[in-house]
Amino acid sequence: MEIVPHVAEEPSISIEIDVGMNFVTDTVFPTKESLLEWVRDVAKGLSFVVTIQRADKIDGRPKPRVFMGCDRSGFARDNQQRKGYIKKNLRKTSSKRCECQFLLLGQRNACGDEWKIDVKNGKHNHQFVHLEAHSYATRLTEEEERIVEEMYGSGVKPRKILTSLKNRSSNNASIMRTIYNQKVKLQKRKLDGGTPIQFLYKCIRDAEYSSYNHVNPSTCSLESLYFAHPTSIRLCNMFPDVFVMDCTYKTNRYRLPLLSIVGQTSTNLSFFAAFETENSYKWAFECFKSMLDATTLPNVLIVDREIALMNAIKVVFPQAKIILCQVHINKNILAHCKKYFKKGKECEVFLTEWQTLVYSPSVHDFNMRLNDMCAKYAENYPDVLKYVVTTWVDPYKEYFVSAWDRQVVAF
Ligand SMILES: [Zn+2]
Repeated sequence: MEIVPHVAEEPSISIEIDVGMNFVTDTVFPTKESLLEWVRDVAKGLSFVVTIQRADKIDGRPKPRVFMGCDRSGFARDNQQRKGYIKKNLRKTSSKRCECQFLLLGQRNACGDEWKIDVKNGKHNHQFVHLEAHSYATRLTEEEERIVEEMYGSGVKPRKILTSLKNRSSNNASIMRTIYNQKVKLQKRKLDGGTPIQFLYKCIRDAEYSSYNHVNPSTCSLESLYFAHPTSIRLCNMFPDVFVMDCTYKTNRYRLPLLSIVGQTSTNLSFFAAFETENSYKWAFECFKSMLDATTLPNVLIVDREIALMNAIKVVFPQAKIILCQVHINKNILAHCKKYFKKGKECEVFLTEWQTLVYSPSVHDFNMRLNDMCAKYAENYPDVLKYVVTTWVDPYKEYFVSAWDRQVVAF
């Protein structure tokens, strides 16, 4: 036999909070809007939210009325379902409604120039919660929406935007969610019904970028996109000697790799040459190559230790010298070796000696310095030595040690 558990209904505790007196006023308002504004301000001060429940058309009757209630008036969702007002399978939301009977009436006189307030029922049947729990109270004014748009457009962080709004107005009850929602709204408006990719293409077209794309024929989805600004292309051809290439993976929510190629002018200014957004380096380099004059191919390409990237360079730019980025190597050594050293000072000394090794002017000097280093650290720090030798020195010394660099180019 099936046993049906008995669920006791929550005992209802009756609460009565009378705030009617706060709305008793002789003030005469020139418009319905000014009346509503006053009512909302008073309610906000008391930590509840007033909503319009019913309003006559302004010219619909000689004395048009507006009924204003508490935002917790009306039946709770469970009750609405029971009474068949809404469908059962609707998304469940936390309902705040509790049949609150608070009611104000605003009415215009027959001459049409005065609005007055009448308290019909000043009692609430619930406690007031913090205002920020009311979606209405957190809403932005038109002016605030404009400010969010401006600040967001300038790259200001949401947290700072919220602080700025709060500093402007002590009445502002917005929360972080308000700002995020506004951001989504702005993005949707910007996309103008299109997809983000369509918008990106529009930007690329509008700014007259050169672009190439690669579409997977079986899925028809865009797999790679390459774009470069016309000024960058000009600069690439004027200063084709050195390019830094870096690939990042965690900068976008799709986790697509983003390869950026940065060039350098004779005055040491850097410029962006191109971006690419898929793991097909060879394709990206072919695009990059097609941008350059046949006679001005890159001499030196600075990259981090990314095997696929280095292999692609060897195929597309066989004449170019690959150099591993020093900053990238040093960061890796520090991150990996710090834990082995008992004192921070020892680690610093090791890194300085590593730099001296890297800047060895000749292969002979390099070998001598490496031998010295091995002798010094072999006993106490074998793991450190093992890491730098097997990860960097043995496989890549030609790509970052000055002794080998200098055989190619001086820069
Ligand atoms: Zn209420």
